[in-house]
Amino acid sequence: MFFCWLNRLYRGLSSPTGRTTQLIWGSLSRSLVLSSRRRIPEFSSFVARTNTCGELRSSHLGQEVTLCGWIQYRRQNTFLVLRDFHGLIQLVIPQDESAASVKKILCEAPVESVVRVSGTVISRPPGQENPKMPTGEIEIKVKTAELLNSCKKLPFEIKDFVKKTEALRLQYRYLDLRSFQMQYNLRLRSQMVMKMREYLCNLHGFVDIETPTLFKKTPGGAKEFVVPSREPGKFYSLPQSPQQFKQLLMVGGLDRYFQVARCYRDEGSRPDRQPEFTQIDIEMSFVDQTGIQSLIEGLLQYSWPRDKDPVVVPFPSMTFAEALATYGTDKPDTRFGMKIVDISDVFRNTEVRFLQDVLSKPKGTVKAIRIPEGAKYLKRKDIESIRKVAADHFNQEVLPVFLKAGRHWNSPVAEFILEKQSLELIRLMELQEEDVILLTAGEHRKACSLLGKLRLECADLLEARGVVLRDPALFSFLWVVDFPLFLPKEENPGELESAHHPFTAPHPSDIQLLYTEPEKVRSQHYDLVLNGSEIGGGSIRIHDAELQRYILATLLKEDVKLLSHLLQALDYGAPPHGGIALGLDRLICLVTGAPSIRDVIAFPKSFRGLKSDPEFCHRSDNQAFRRKESRQHSSPQ
Ligand code: ASP
Repeated sequence: MFFCWLNRLYRGLSSPTGRTTQLIWGSLSRSLVLSSRRRIPEFSSFVARTNTCGELRSSHLGQEVTLCGWIQYRRQNTFLVLRDFHGLIQLVIPQDESAASVKKILCEAPVESVVRVSGTVISRPPGQENPKMPTGEIEIKVKTAELLNSCKKLPFEIKDFVKKTEALRLQYRYLDLRSFQMQYNLRLRSQMVMKMREYLCNLHGFVDIETPTLFKKTPGGAKEFVVPSREPGKFYSLPQSPQQFKQLLMVGGLDRYFQVARCYRDEGSRPDRQPEFTQIDIEMSFVDQTGIQSLIEGLLQYSWPRDKDPVVVPFPSMTFAEALATYGTDKPDTRFGMKIVDISDVFRNTEVRFLQDVLSKPKGTVKAIRIPEGAKYLKRKDIESIRKVAADHFNQEVLPVFLKAGRHWNSPVAEFILEKQSLELIRLMELQEEDVILLTAGEHRKACSLLGKLRLECADLLEARGVVLRDPALFSFLWVVDFPLFLPKEENPGELESAHHPFTAPHPSDIQLLYTEPEKVRSQHYDLVLNGSEIGGGSIRIHDAELQRYILATLLKEDVKLLSHLLQALDYGAPPHGGIALGLDRLICLVTGAPSIRDVIAFPKSFRGLKSDPEFCHRSDNQAFRRKESRQHSSPQ
């Protein structure tokens, strides 16, 4: 069922009755009602139609209209349903001899052919109204018809409920784009971006500035694509983000910059990543962390679709250390509990050998998560797969412990759990009968990361069994702050690399540590997390050339020559500044509930990073520039 969502959208009509599609189109219409003082766009200016298919109502009765659209379906050579982006309308095919040529066109044109028709808006006969269609009270008595283009046999039907493989969808993307869902996603994206521009430029005086996409290699730019130039041996790099340019703009006095910026990172395509993606990129002078956070909260509140629960600000905030200790990740999904609990103290005097071993080490800990009613929902094979994840990804053991009726433990180590330990465990973890705990022992960060991963795996398992853990209508925003400035390099833990990027300023209270214990320095870096996905990140920048040089050369061991332009600029009266970038594709993906960011991009790369049409697949072989993927997927430049 197709709903005329745009009409309601702009005119604020009440939502239609209907089922599945109503969920999509009903919500689309409301979501796109973004401003109270809305103007109804003129959808039929400059083109060969008088109206859109979806906008006609009883109020148009008697009007002569010309419509253009695709043939959705035909019934008994009597009715034809025509579709455009706006909705569906029923046409009555003339049966009289004098209109034989019109009848022939409309009866012979295959489905999805594109036609132009003219006719009169008439009422449907009593009893034949379709309350599920916004145009269901009327139909068009066709007088003339023109076949604008015929459609061959389709590789798949243009109906959302018809399942098709992603490969086929990408191969025939232009057909896939005709689907209601893709129309919804792309139009919602356009509306949100429009509201963001309005908020930034019109309400807060930002300047929209384009920056180059042909640039040079930057230090640590391991994931850059290179573009050969005409001069043999000379290449450009595609920027991972406009980071350096936006900082230079601050030095240039353009003190409130933003851009809907195209960024490039050669890190393969995954459900939440694309080699080519879009950021809402922002930089401001004379701002602190709180200023940037308030700006973003206001921006999201302003651009948020109306049909969703309103965005509540300010967003909660959590330190990186707390996020890691409680959720095992720097992007916690805070829509549900199952938090990590440190139970080291319960087992200080344990007889369980492997716990003893770990706790005897200086950094050894024992941690656990509670899976509510896990005994009821988790099958033996689930536990096996959980243990396999632990072994394969973390080289670590997890111990499932079931609390059975009568407070009996069911676990290989049950007999070693003393009464006192048992009571303490039940208290600390707030255990109920039928709960399962997953317990692991090891160094803090590793144990937390493992349980963080298992927490999400178990949530998926429970939800697959019908338990409602995460409310699909809930948008849970979270700031993660106080990141470390540096992390040990994965490939060489003796060296440091930036946790965000090398331009991030240290926390003012930790500056002295830079010269003594740099690994302990906290940064002025903040990430925005939504439902467990990182949707933005930024920082207050270093605006002192000397400090920037010290960090690059001495601590990060980067070639400062590559950044001499930036270092020089900082010396010419660079204002204090900071910024952030929001990942637009991920944000829209979460807002629309799409399974992949590919569903919110008109022409995405496929899973392997290729545009599906081979004509478009020329990728440069830049293996030489590739480094092991860094732990920080955003590690932006
Ligand atoms: N350039 C950074 C990124 O791409 C964002 C920032 O620090 O403003 O994530």
